[in-house]
Amino acid sequence: MLHRTPVVFFFACMIAGLCALVVHASPAAMPAPALKIAALPPTRVAPSPMDVVRGRLDAAFDPSASPYTVNAVESQRWYRLTLTHDWNQATAPVLSFSGATYIRITVYAPPDYRPQALWFTQIEKAPRFSRHHLALELPQGLRAEQPIYVQVAADSFTRPIRPELTDLANYQADDLTHVRLCTLFASVQFTMILAALCLWMVLRDRVLVYFIGYAACQLIYQMLVSGEMYELPGASLLVPLGPHALWLFAALSAPLSISFILEFCELRQITPWAARMLGWMRWPYLVAAPLLCFPFAERVHALANAFNLWFMFSSLWALGTVVLAVLRHGRQARFFLIAWMPQVLLTFLRVAQLLLSLDQPRWLEYGFPFTMAFASIVITIGLADLSLRARRERDMAHHLADHDALTGILNRRALVKRLHTGITEARLQREPLALLFLDMDHFKSINDRFGHPVGDACLRAVAESIADELRPTDWLGRYGGEEFVVGLPGASHDNAMSIGERIRQRIETLQVHFRGNTVQTTVSLGVASLQGLADTADDLIARADAALYRAKTDGRNRIAAHPPLAAAER
Ligand code: GH3
Ligand code: MG
Ligand code: MG
Repeated sequence: MLHRTPVVFFFACMIAGLCALVVHASPAAMPAPALKIAALPPTRVAPSPMDVVRGRLDAAFDPSASPYTVNAVESQRWYRLTLTHDWNQATAPVLSFSGATYIRITVYAPPDYRPQALWFTQIEKAPRFSRHHLALELPQGLRAEQPIYVQVAADSFTRPIRPELTDLANYQADDLTHVRLCTLFASVQFTMILAALCLWMVLRDRVLVYFIGYAACQLIYQMLVSGEMYELPGASLLVPLGPHALWLFAALSAPLSISFILEFCELRQITPWAARMLGWMRWPYLVAAPLLCFPFAERVHALANAFNLWFMFSSLWALGTVVLAVLRHGRQARFFLIAWMPQVLLTFLRVAQLLLSLDQPRWLEYGFPFTMAFASIVITIGLADLSLRARRERDMAHHLADHDALTGILNRRALVKRLHTGITEARLQREPLALLFLDMDHFKSINDRFGHPVGDACLRAVAESIADELRPTDWLGRYGGEEFVVGLPGASHDNAMSIGERIRQRIETLQVHFRGNTVQTTVSLGVASLQGLADTADDLIARADAALYRAKTDGRNRIAAHPPLAAAER
C-alpha cells in the first residue's frame, strides 16, 4: 500500500493546482458597469436600421433596469448602449457580449455607425480574441453622448446576454487566462483519450472503446461551447450545423457514457435489474440524435425539453445504480463515483443558479471542463486498475492450471509435462536424469487419528521439506493423494540415492504442529534413472513406482532403487 501515498499526493497537488488556476481566473471584483442599457419595445413591423442608427427612434428606447439584453424569440431586438461618462482609460474600450453562443449580434458603433456583425462561428475573419464572448474593439475617444446601437437576432430560446465594456489591456489579459484554462483542460482530456487508445491497441477491451467514444464526444462538446472547435482545420464543415453540432455531440455522448458505466462498473453482474433499465435508457438518445440535426429541432421546444428531462432522469438513474453497486462492494463503481461526484455537484449548482436566476459566477464557466478532466484522470486510473486486475486473474488462472491448490507445488498434469521436456533436454545434453517417487507412510492413519485438516497440514509440511532439499533446477510435483515425484536433472543414480536419503532423514525428524497436535511422519522412496533411448516418461514413473513398492514391502521409511541392486539399507 506504500506506493499509493506518493500517487495520492501527486493527484492532490495536481487538483489543488487546477483549483488555484480556476480561482486565479476569477477576478476579485468586477468593475462597476460603465454601460447604460435601453431597449426598444417590440413593434409589429421591424424598424429599419437606418431609422434606429440616425437616432429617429431614440425617444422610444426604454431604460432597462437589468444588466442584460434579452434575445427575442422569433423577432429581432434593438438596444441602445451609452456610457456613464467619457472613456478615459489608457487603452481602447472593448465591447463584449457573454452568453451569446450561436446568436448573431450586429453592432452600430461610432464614429461611422456601419454595421459590424458578430457571430460565434465566424471563421472568415482573422480572430482577435477567443470565441467565448462576442467582442469588438471600439474607438479610444468614445464619449458619453455617443450611443452604440445593438441589434440582437431572433432566436428560438430566450437567454440573457450580458454586454460589458472593458479596456483592451484588461480584456486581453483575461482572455489569455481563459485560453490557457481551456487549453489545459482540453489537453488533459485529450491525453486521457490517447492513453485509453494506446491501452485499447494492446487489450482490445470494449470498455475502452466506450470510454474513448464518450470522452471524445464530451471534449468536442466542450470545445464547441467555448468556440475553440471552430479554430481547428475542417471547422467549415461544422459551421452550417450551427447549434445542431452541439446538440448532436451531447446526444451521442449520453448513450456512450451509459454503455461505459454499464461495462466499467460491471453493473450487469452487480445490479442486474437496474442495469437492464439503464441499458434501455440509451435508445431515446439514439433516436433523438439524428432528429436534433434537422432544422425544425430549433423550433420544436418540446424536443429540447424532452431531451433535457430525459437526460436528467437517466443521469439520476445511472447515479442511483452506481451508488447501489458501490454499496454492493463494486470496486470499479467506487472509482466511477469518485470521478463523477464533482460533475454531479456542479450540475446541482448550475440548476440551482438557473432556478434562482442568479448570475453565473466566472468559475462556473470552467467548472465543467475541470470536472471533465478530473473525471477522465480518475477513470483512466480505474481503467489501468481494471487491466491490472485482469492480468492478475489471468496469471492466477495460469498458476492454478499448473499448480496444486493445497501444497502450491506442480500438479500431476504439469509434472508429467515437465518430465517429458526433462527427458528431451537430458538426451540433447547427454546428461543423466533421475526420478524420486515418494509416498507417505501410514498416512491414512494420520487422517483417521487427527482428522483431515491435520493430514493437509502434514502434506504441506512434507512438500515444503522436500522443496528445501532441492536445487532450483530440480522439480517437484504432487502425483496423487500423498504421493510426490521429484525430477533430478543431471543427477546420477548415486546422487539421486543420496538426495533421496537426505529427504527421508529430514522428514523423519520433521514435527508438524497443527491446532494443538504434534504429528510425526515418514516417507518411503523409490528411485529410477533414465536409461536407453527407448525409455519413456511412463516407463520411468513405472520403475520408480516399482522401487517404491519394494521400499514399502521392505518395511517403509526407506529408499529403494530400480534396479534393486542399488537399494540402500537403513
Ligand atoms: P501406506 O504406508 O501403505 O502408503 O499407507 P497409507 O495410509 O499412506 O496409504 P493409502 O493409500 O491407503 O492412504 C492414502 C490416504 O491419503 C487416503 C486418503 O484419505 C489420504 N489423502 C489423499 N489425498 C489427501 C488430501 O488431499 N488430504 C488429506 N488429508 N488426505 C489425503
Ligand atoms: Mg501412503
Ligand atoms: Mg499412496
